[in-house]
Amino acid sequence: MNLALIAHDAKKNDMLQLAAEFRPYLQTCTLMATGTTGGRLQRELGLEVECLLSGPLGGDLQIGARLAIGQVDAVIFLRDPMTSQPHEPDINALVRACDVHNVACATNVAGARLMLTGWADLAGLVTHQAI
Ligand code: PGA
Repeated sequence: MNLALIAHDAKKNDMLQLAAEFRPYLQTCTLMATGTTGGRLQRELGLEVECLLSGPLGGDLQIGARLAIGQVDAVIFLRDPMTSQPHEPDINALVRACDVHNVACATNVAGARLMLTGWADLAGLVTHQAI
């Protein structure tokens, strides 16, 4: 499972908490992330993550480009719906690419939990760890 992780600033703590809960499953995945999100996942949880460019500098587009050629199986993109983002076109492009290529995309914690729980169960792993 090639999984891309992105969180806007107001959602980064949610991403960290989600990743901590699902760490056993995420450790079985190949993870990539936008720069700041990935850096925090590495430093604070010790997850192995390929860090791409920061989102506003093109990281979302890098993930979209990989997705378009079949290198991304799912995206967890915790967007901040309350703050306008300078790279809104890039965000829309990535979500559109998910729809074009029928790649699973969760844009909030509830959807991400559902996705990760399902895949962890399929993989025969403990669904999540209490933290
Ligand atoms: P970041 O990018 O992980 O580098 O903060 C996320 C985004 O804003 O798209």
